[in-house]
Amino acid sequence: MTTPPPETADAPTAKSMEDIVALCKRRGFIFPASEIYGGINGFWDFGPLGVELKNNLRDAWWHDMVRCPPEGPDGESLSIVGLDSAIIQNPKVWEASGHVGGFNDPMVDDRETKQRFRADQLFGLFHYTAQPPGKDRLFFDDVKEKLSAGEFVAPLVTVVANSEEEAIRHFVGRDWKPPKPYKRDIIENFKLELNRPFDLSLLDSQGKQWYCMSIRIPLQVIENFTAQVPSPFSKDGKAGNLMNPRMFNLMFKTSVGAVQDEDSVVYLRPETAQGIFLNFKNVTDTQRVKVPFGIAQIGKAFRNEVTPRNYIFRSREFEQMEMEFFCHESEATKWYDFWVQTRLDWWKSLGISADNLQRRDHDAAELAHYSTACADIEYRYPFTAPGFGELEGIAHRGCYDLTQHQEHSGAKLTYFDQERNEHYLPHVIEPAAGLSRGVLVLLCEAYTPDPERPSKVYMKFHPRMAPIKAAIFPLVAKDGMPEVAQQLYDELRAKYAVQLDVKQNIGKRYARMDEAGTPYCFTIDGQTLEDQTVTIRERDTLSQERINIDQVGSYLADRIGG
Ligand code: ATP
Repeated sequence: MTTPPPETADAPTAKSMEDIVALCKRRGFIFPASEIYGGINGFWDFGPLGVELKNNLRDAWWHDMVRCPPEGPDGESLSIVGLDSAIIQNPKVWEASGHVGGFNDPMVDDRETKQRFRADQLFGLFHYTAQPPGKDRLFFDDVKEKLSAGEFVAPLVTVVANSEEEAIRHFVGRDWKPPKPYKRDIIENFKLELNRPFDLSLLDSQGKQWYCMSIRIPLQVIENFTAQVPSPFSKDGKAGNLMNPRMFNLMFKTSVGAVQDEDSVVYLRPETAQGIFLNFKNVTDTQRVKVPFGIAQIGKAFRNEVTPRNYIFRSREFEQMEMEFFCHESEATKWYDFWVQTRLDWWKSLGISADNLQRRDHDAAELAHYSTACADIEYRYPFTAPGFGELEGIAHRGCYDLTQHQEHSGAKLTYFDQERNEHYLPHVIEPAAGLSRGVLVLLCEAYTPDPERPSKVYMKFHPRMAPIKAAIFPLVAKDGMPEVAQQLYDELRAKYAVQLDVKQNIGKRYARMDEAGTPYCFTIDGQTLEDQTVTIRERDTLSQERINIDQVGSYLADRIGG
């Protein structure tokens, strides 16, 4: 093979999700919901550090989007107002928005194990041997062609994954058990090379070439051939356990009032955006806003996800930060471009490295019928690496939502533009970010292994995001040091999330703060009592310097703001 050295999918990534999850549990960022009862799939609780981190992200978004948004593309100051709408609305809302009719995922059940998963997350591994050298492309193209023509080629083994990269990692990594046609000794000696992102070439110990590919199995193929597709949960790689895909609505249903019948059915909102459209008229009638302007909302959303997975990446209860920016149709493209760039820059401003972020424009086939453009801001999560997964979507929604609500409710939602002397339904650009997913990104980005430190790892949060901004330590719990520390703590806590930690040796206290991601530690020692100076220990550089105790507040203000 002449392919370049592989970036093998099962090579250890610098950051392992297992380690991140363990740290989050150990330090009190995130706990499984109902843990003492065995948990509940797709639900998570944020612990003392997690809630501070989440609130910091939420507050930063609110500040930078609502209170103090950036200048517009022509240097104009933007007007964005906030909203907090109800989680349960009139069920007609979700008919108008298309969620009752269309918020469906095709799902497949495994008869034997009772596992259920999204059909579009099914990936198959095909294999082929004895292809003459140089001819492997023929095979890959051949399979793809057959699949796209609706012809069926049975995959040898299947997995459920979010992306093709993730699927490949399952196939070649620890999680995958070879199906019957393979022999264990052969597969263990395979050397993996990735020719192209989605094709695999395996060399066994005798130097024989095997060609494999993973491919997303098109829905129509599964519909017709479930009998021949092996279930991802099958122990022996045999087909026959999958049921035909069925549509499954992602909205949680409940009922209001004493009588539970069809008329009492309501839904937990699957997104915060619709509450904004419902209040468009209320806002324009009561506020001095003029198009272009935005309405923003942060809050819980609920989706009965078929396969909640990857920690808090895809959960059933989560939080969103969404803004609908209303503008004249003729200016919508300008605002779309502006918001995609602005949102990408915002995540970078929170310390997310540019290398781990990417913009992915949706192609025409992916766009909703009413949408003219949509781009995702994606992050390289440890479980998608080297690929990326969605963090935020920015959609050009046209005037679809206001039109739908106007038609379904009968209320007139048009806006009168005095400058243009025109009545119209504004077009909408929607930056929709996940708050919980954003927390996951902050955690993954911050996680920094460092074998030199006693903790072996530290959380390199941007100071604005750090759940604890500073820790105050008396070097020893005697000689008047705790009293000085207590006084400093009382002064600082009025403004910042700070912690006072009196006990244990200083190395252990630093280690705890490294894992919590606390950027600054102030230590009160013998010298403090003589000259009123304290030691500052900086998390990232480990540098230590002394400053006057009176300057601690301004030191933090300069670095954290406020
Ligand atoms: P996906 O394709 O991952 O299901 P989506 O495109 O349906 O997401 P949107 O409806 O655009 O997502 O929601 C906006 C944002 O809300 C997403 O970018 C993501 O950050 C967040 N989000 C959506 N679903 C979930 C979920 N189940 N758990 C956590 N966050 C979510």
